[in-house]
Parts: sequence; structure tokens; C-alpha cells
Amino acid sequence: MSTGERLHGVFIAVEVDSAASADAALAAKLEEVCPVDIFTAGESGVEIVKENLDECVLCNLCVDAAPDGAVRIIRLYEQ
Ligand code: SF4
Repeated sequence: MSTGERLHGVFIAVEVDSAASADAALAAKLEEVCPVDIFTAGESGVEIVKENLDECVLCNLCVDAAPDGAVRIIRLYEQ
């Protein structure tokens, strides 16, 4: 069983600013760039796929694809 390993890994939180998250074009772009499908373009804009968050590889493609400061990747380390 490897479930325990995840508990000691890096936890990621992704924040999308509320104006940006309502942008359908940005939603489509984020859905396209993220290699692990953390973003999806929903009816109301950017949606975060929470169950994929721990797959984030910190590639910053989403941050680069969005306007300055609109997407933030926050690293939460288990102590
Ligand atoms: S940093 Fe990379 S893997 Fe993580 S959410 Fe952004 S695009 Fe996806």
C-alpha cells in the first residue's frame, strides 16, 4: 500500500483570481496547458479539479498562460 506516501508529500493549492476565473478563453487555455488536468473549462469559467491537485508538477505553465498574478500555485509542505 502506498497511500501513506502521499501524506508526506507536497500539497498544492491553486488559486485563480475571481475575474480571471470567469474568463472562458483563459479557462480553455488553462485546460490545454496543464499536463495533469488540474483545470477544466466549465460553464462558468475556470474550474479546479481538486482530485488532481496532488499531481501538480509545479511546471508553472498555468501561471505563464494567465495574466500576471491571476493564477497562483501555493506549495503547502507537510511538516
Ligand atoms: S504548475 Fe503545471 S501542473 Fe501545476 S497546475 Fe500549473 S500547469 Fe498544472
